[in-house]
Amino acid sequence: PSEFTGKHVTVAGLGVSGVPAAKVLLGLGAHVTVVNDGDDERARTQAAELESLGATVRLGDGDTLPEGTELIVTAPGWKPTKPLFTAAGQAGVPVWGDVELAWRLRGLDGRKAAPWLAVTGTNGKTTTVQMLASILKAAGLRTAAVGNIGVSLLDAVTGDTEYDVLAVELSSYQLHWAPSLRAHSAAVLNLAPDHLDWHGSMEAYAADKGRIYEGNRVACVYNVADKATEELVRAADVEEGCRAVGFTLGTPGPSQLGVVEGLLVDRAFVEDRQKNAQELAEVSDVNPPAPHNIANALAAAGLARAFGVSAAAVRDGLRAFTPDAHRIAHVADVDGVAYVDDSKATNTHATEASLAAYESIVWIAGGLAKGATFDELVVGAAKRLRGAVLIGADRALIREALARHAPEVPVVDLDRTDTGAMLQAVQEARRLARPGDTVLLAPACASMDMFTNYNQRGDAFAQAVRELGA
Ligand code: ADP
Repeated sequence: PSEFTGKHVTVAGLGVSGVPAAKVLLGLGAHVTVVNDGDDERARTQAAELESLGATVRLGDGDTLPEGTELIVTAPGWKPTKPLFTAAGQAGVPVWGDVELAWRLRGLDGRKAAPWLAVTGTNGKTTTVQMLASILKAAGLRTAAVGNIGVSLLDAVTGDTEYDVLAVELSSYQLHWAPSLRAHSAAVLNLAPDHLDWHGSMEAYAADKGRIYEGNRVACVYNVADKATEELVRAADVEEGCRAVGFTLGTPGPSQLGVVEGLLVDRAFVEDRQKNAQELAEVSDVNPPAPHNIANALAAAGLARAFGVSAAAVRDGLRAFTPDAHRIAHVADVDGVAYVDDSKATNTHATEASLAAYESIVWIAGGLAKGATFDELVVGAAKRLRGAVLIGADRALIREALARHAPEVPVVDLDRTDTGAMLQAVQEARRLARPGDTVLLAPACASMDMFTNYNQRGDAFAQAVRELGA
């Protein structure tokens, strides 16, 4: 028996987090009721499966608190303002997200409770967590990158594989619903406005991200160039002896990791007492060696070093790392022009980082703007733009920003949103490009106006480039 045996738990939301959570809880002997807003085909299939395992499922009503609920386990995407949570608050019923549930289930049935090295931030989470896992593996540790990609947190905690340590990606939503999470060490990579409709305000968004530092034992890793991350460290209540460790693309101060003459250098965790810095790796060991990605590597290194990993393992782990598809992926060189797919740059903050990585760019952008403005982005990149090709529903917003701040940059405005538009965009980009340039797909927008998702958008780009080369 566990604390869940016989407990009345309401799981809020079917889907990627709800279904596995319900299954785990049923397995632990809880009485599970699942509530879900939608009542579509997919929901019905999922409901039938859970009902066959003993759950009660209510489709089409995610707002009423089921009688007798002692605990709610919610999908992270559910807004805190939902009536279900107001009712829970009034009834004194605690609300946990999938991360909180996983955290509480650590060490179940005598399993080893692996510590967590946790990563959040507006951009770079997945990349950093994968780099971190690669470094930990190079150190001979049993580990996995868990979160939105790869192994799910719940599987990592309740499955049969034993881990020494987990590299965990956490979103601001998940952190909001994870009150008792206590990471070994954690990093906030950067903080730019995102998901504000959900959190209500920038302050609330920052506060949710900041929870990742609560109760850290060894290090709170922050971005020296992003003051907001340092402020979150200062506001956090951490274990005695836990240190604030900064990462910077410049020369590191004491207790920081940074870059000196093409080397990644650690001044926070120095092995040799005779020295005040430890060389970790060469900048060229980072793939790709773009500035924002070097920052990701430093953050990953900071967490690994906090866990006691050697400098050699940091280097080996970074060398072994290959980025996921559609994240500044070099597709091909055609006629001396490099074609790079950063379809994952779905917001302006990410796009700013990838535009900063190249000298002379033909920029392919556009899609669904999600309320963003593009002035700052264009001002920052104007000098480096050879030209721009705009696609998608909200391309006029980018066109207008270009007209305001970079009137000399030639712009091709493609008035079409069909999938075939990408081939034409790549052909137009080729016409604008000169040898030595980079044609960069970094849309600064979501893809759903033209594509199923950013993967499909990036694949369409790569396909179009291959047709150019053929
Ligand atoms: P996340 O998991 O946070 O969405 P990813 O690692 O998948 O982040 O990267 C998403 C995109 O964000 C990348 O394609 C890249 O354009 C951009 N990016 C990655 N790291 C950073 C960073 N440290 N700062 C700004 N932008 C970044």
